[in-house]
Amino acid sequence: MDLATEPTHLPDATDILLERDVQRLGRELHQRLSGQTPGLFQAAWWQGLLLDRTMRDPALKTDLFRLVDALPALSTSEQIARHAREYLLANGRELPTGLGLALRVTQNPLAASISAFVITQSVRQMAERFIVGRDARQARSTLKKLWGQGFGFTVDLLGEATVNAVESETYARRYADLIEFLPGETAAWKANPILDQGPAGSIPRANISLKLSAMDHLLDAADPDGGVERLLARVRPLLLRAKELGAFINFDLEQWSLHEITYRLFERIALDPDFSAWPHLGIVIQAYLKNAGHDLDRLLALASKRGAPLTVRLVKGAYWDYEVIQSGLHGYPCPVFKEKTHTDANYERLTRRLLDQRATIHAAFGTHNLRTLCVALACAENLGLKPGAFELQMLFGMAEPERKLLRELGHRVRLYAPVGDLLTGMAYLVRRLLENTANSSFLRLSHHDHADIGELLAPPTAAAPLDADEEGNQMAERERNLGAPFQNSPLADFTSGETRAALAQAVAGAEKQMPWQVPVVINGRARMDGPALFHVTPNLKTRIAASANSATLEEVEQAVGFAKKAWAAWRDLPLETRAARINHLAARLDGDRLRLTAMEVHEQAKPWREADADVAEAIDFCRYYARQSLVELSPRLQGGIAGEINTLTYEGRGLCAVIAPWNFPLAILCGMTAAALVAGNAVLLKPAEQAGAIAFAFHQHALAAGIPSEILPFLPGEGEIVGDALVRHRDVVQIAFTGSREVGTAILRHAAEIVPGQAMIKRVVCEMGGKNAVIVDDDADLDEAVTGVIRSAFGYAGQKCSACSRLILVGTIHENFVSRLKLAAQALVPSSATNAGCLLPPVIDEASHARLWKIINDPGPDARLIFRGEAGTTGWFVPPAIFEVNDPLHPLMQRELFGPILTVFAARDFSHALEVANTSDFALTGAVYSRSPRHLQQAREAFRVGNLYLNRPCTGAQVHRQPFGGFKMSGAGTKAGGPGYLLHFAEMRVSTENTMRRGFAPEIL
Ligand SMILES: Cc1cc2nc3c(=O)[nH]c(=O)nc-3n(C[C@H](O)[C@H](O)[C@H](O)COP(=O)(O)OP(=O)(O)OC[C@H]3O[C@@H](n4cnc5c(N)ncnc54)[C@H](O)[C@@H]3O)c2cc1C
Repeated sequence: MDLATEPTHLPDATDILLERDVQRLGRELHQRLSGQTPGLFQAAWWQGLLLDRTMRDPALKTDLFRLVDALPALSTSEQIARHAREYLLANGRELPTGLGLALRVTQNPLAASISAFVITQSVRQMAERFIVGRDARQARSTLKKLWGQGFGFTVDLLGEATVNAVESETYARRYADLIEFLPGETAAWKANPILDQGPAGSIPRANISLKLSAMDHLLDAADPDGGVERLLARVRPLLLRAKELGAFINFDLEQWSLHEITYRLFERIALDPDFSAWPHLGIVIQAYLKNAGHDLDRLLALASKRGAPLTVRLVKGAYWDYEVIQSGLHGYPCPVFKEKTHTDANYERLTRRLLDQRATIHAAFGTHNLRTLCVALACAENLGLKPGAFELQMLFGMAEPERKLLRELGHRVRLYAPVGDLLTGMAYLVRRLLENTANSSFLRLSHHDHADIGELLAPPTAAAPLDADEEGNQMAERERNLGAPFQNSPLADFTSGETRAALAQAVAGAEKQMPWQVPVVINGRARMDGPALFHVTPNLKTRIAASANSATLEEVEQAVGFAKKAWAAWRDLPLETRAARINHLAARLDGDRLRLTAMEVHEQAKPWREADADVAEAIDFCRYYARQSLVELSPRLQGGIAGEINTLTYEGRGLCAVIAPWNFPLAILCGMTAAALVAGNAVLLKPAEQAGAIAFAFHQHALAAGIPSEILPFLPGEGEIVGDALVRHRDVVQIAFTGSREVGTAILRHAAEIVPGQAMIKRVVCEMGGKNAVIVDDDADLDEAVTGVIRSAFGYAGQKCSACSRLILVGTIHENFVSRLKLAAQALVPSSATNAGCLLPPVIDEASHARLWKIINDPGPDARLIFRGEAGTTGWFVPPAIFEVNDPLHPLMQRELFGPILTVFAARDFSHALEVANTSDFALTGAVYSRSPRHLQQAREAFRVGNLYLNRPCTGAQVHRQPFGGFKMSGAGTKAGGPGYLLHFAEMRVSTENTMRRGFAPEIL
C-alpha cells in the first residue's frame, strides 16, 4: 500500500520510541559532523561565488545551469565567451565585480580566450567533483583510493537517451568492457571485511549500476513488451558474463516512463533459470513515486519465487523536476509526490518495511539526508541488526563528511561512481547541481543555510495527499463546470498497463467492425442505399475500412433547406445553452475516447499516440470554444457615457459549410464545427473521403449532445462535387476549410463570386499547408535536435500540415548531425499503425502513395539522396527519405509534399538559416534548436511563421496553449484554438439607445 492510498497512520508506542532514537542518533551524528562541509559548498572562486549567488537568485541558477549544459557543444573561445555573456549578463544582471567585468570584456579575442579557458576549466572541475573518470581505466585510481579509504563503489556509465542503434550498441559494449575489467582489477585490492562480507556471504567488489535508457533508443512506454524483448537480448549476455566473472549488477531507475519496462525486464531476469539462484542482483525503488509501495510488494513477490535474495536500493529519486514538468505538459497524473515531506515520509515507511523483510531483500539506503539515514539506523538498531546487515550508499562528490563518519561507525558505505566524458556527464552534473541547490535539499539546508538541528531532524508530515481517483474526480468536476478555467485533456498515459490493455482491446474490437457503413444524414434521417465510396485501411491495401454513401446535389439542396429554416432558432438560444451543449459534446467524446482512437488507428493508420492526441484535441476544442464563447461572444456595454447605452452583441451568421481534412480526422472537423455551432450557426458537415467513419461517429455524438439534427446535416461525398456545391451555394454564408493550398485558394475564389439570390457576403476561415523548416544551430543539443527532427518530419509519416520538411543546419554541425540523423532514421521501420510500437505508418491512400514514390524516384535536379529507408508492402507504405540540396529555391525546398520526405540545406550561419527558412510561400510552423539566447530572440523576431517552436518539435500544438494557424499561403491568419477564432463565425451588432429624457438620464440619477 502506498502513501497515496494508505489511511492516516496514528503514531503508536513503537513509532514514538523509534522517533526518540532517531532524534538521539541525529543529534549525536550532527554533533560529530559539526564544522565539516562537503566539497561542493567549499568551492573556490567563481564556482563558489556563483553557486552561492544561484541559491539566492533562481533566475541566475537557470541561466548558469543552461550555460553549463551548453558548454560541451561549444568549440571556440568566441562561442564560449558569447554564450557566457548571453546567459550570465542577461537582462543587465550585475555579477560580483571581478566576474561581471571579466565577462563584459570578452568581446576582445584575448579576453575571450582567457575567460573561455577559465569557464571550461571550472565546469570541468565541477564535473570532476561528481564523475570518477572518463572511462573505467581512468577511474581505476580513484576507485582504488576510495577502496583504500574503506568505501565500496558502484560504477555507472554516464549516458542519457541514445538516438540510434549504433549509439545504443556502443553504450552496451562499454558496459561489457566494464564487466570484463572491474572484477579482475579489484581482485588484488586489499581485503576489507565490512565491504567484502554481507549478510548472505561474500559480496563482489565489482559493483555495476546499469542504465537501461541508453541501451535501446526505441524504448517507449506504449510498447513495454517490445522494449523488454530488445533489452533482454542486450542485457542478458552482460549479466551472464557478470555472473561468471563475479560482479554485482544493479538496475538503476530513471524516468517514470521507463519504470514498467525496467521492472518487467528485472522480473524476467530474476526468474530466468540462469539467474534465479544468483544473489548479486539488485534494483532501485524511488520513494518519490506514489506507487513505490506497490514496487516493494512486487519485489517481495518476486523474491519469494527465487532461490536467492535480491537487493533493493531505496532512494528518493533524481528526476523530480522532470516528472512534474512532463506530467504538467501532457496532463498525465503526476507520478511523484508534489511535497517533499511526502517523499520523506514514504522513504521512512519503506525503510521499515525493507528491514522487516531482510530475509528475502537486502536493503541499501541511498540518501545523504541525516534524518532519513538516522531512521534507517534507528530501525536497524531496534531490530538488533549490526552494521553490515544493510548497506548505506551515497553519490560520489556529495556529503563527504557524512560518508566518512558512517564508515567510522562501521557501516558498509558504497559510493555511486559515474564514469563518462564531459559531454554525457553534463546532464548528470546539472541534475546534481539542481539537487544540491534546491531549497528543500537536505545538504543545502544543513551545510549552506545552516538550518537548526530541530528543523533538520523534524519528522516529515505524512498527511496523505489526494489519491489518483480524487484527483480524477476533481478534474472531471472542473471539466463539467463551464465557469472553471480551461485545461487541456490529459493525453493517454501509456505508462499505465490498464491504458495500454484497454486501447489494445479497442483496436482489436474496432478491427472486427470494419467496414464501417457511413450514411448521408439529413434532418436526423440516415440514408445508406446509394453507391458507395470505399476507403481501404492504409494498414492493409486489401481491407476496406469504410464504405460511405455520397450525398447527391439534391440532398445538398434538401440539407440547406432544413438548415435554413431551423438555424434562427438555434441562433436565438441563449449563448449559455449552446455552450453547454458543446461542453456536453466534449463529455460524450471523452466517454467514447477509446473507440474513437481505435477507429483512427484503422481508418487513417494513425499510430496510437497520434490517434489519442487527435481525439484529445477534439475534446479540447469543444471545451475551449464553449468557455471562450462566454468570454468573447457575450453581450457587452461600450463607452460608458451618461445619456446613451451602447450594447454590443454577437450572433451567428447563418449556414456554415465545414469542409474537413483526413489527417486530423476528428480534431479539425470537430473544432471547426464546434466553433461555428457555439457562435450560433448551422453547420453543413462535409467530411474528407478518407475519414467518413470517424466523422459519422462524431456526428452521432453531436446529435446526442443536443445539437438539433436540422442544423447539422452530415454530407459525405467527393470534395469536387459535395464540397464544391456547398461552397458555391447562395445560402451558405460561411466556409470553414482545412486542406490543401490548391483547394483552399479555389474556395477563396469561389466564395468571392456573388451568385444570384445570395444575401450575405461569404466569409472563409481557411487553413492550408506548410513547408515548415527546422533550424539546428551550431550549439544545439544534438540528442534533442535529432529526436525532434525525426518526430517533426516523420511523425504520422509526415502527413501533418505542421510537419518539418526542410531541415536547415547551421555551420559546423552539418556532418555530425547528418550522420546521426541517418542512423536515427534507420529505426523508422514501416509498420501497421495497429502495432503499439509503430513509428512509421503507411500513407493515407493509393494516390498519396503514388505521388510520393514519384517524388522519391525523381526529386528534381541536383538533389542528393542521403537516406532512404525500407517500405513495407502490405499497406500504402512509403519509405522515409532524406535529400540534400544546395539551392533554397529547389522544388524540394518549396513544394508541399505531405509525406515522409525531408530535405536538408546547409546554411553559412544563423542569419542565413533564418533567411532560407523565410524563403517560402508558406508560413505555418517552424522550429529552432539553439542554446544561444541571442539566436533564440532573433528567431522570435525574424522567423516569420504562425507557430514558432524553440527547442522542441514543430508539431503537436495544443488548444489554448498554442493557438494554431499560419499566414502567407498557409492560411488567412485565423488561429484555431485561440482567442479571436470564434469572432470569425459571428456578426457583431451594436445598438445605441439615447437614454436622456427631458434633460435627465438614468445613469446620472
Ligand atoms: C547511491 C545512490 C544511487 C542512486 N540511484 C538512483 C537511481 O537509480 N534513480 C534515481 O532516480 N535516483 C537515484 N538516486 C537518488 C537521487 O539521485 C538523489 O540523490 C536523492 O533523491 C537525494 O535524496 P536525499 O535523501 O539525499 O536528499 P534530500 O534533500 O532529503 O531529498 C531530495 C529529494 O527529495 C525529493 N523531492 C525534492 N523536492 C520534492 C517535492 N517538492 N516533492 C516531493 N519530493 C521532492 C527528490 O527526490 C529529491 O531528489 C541515488 C542516490 C544515491 C545516493
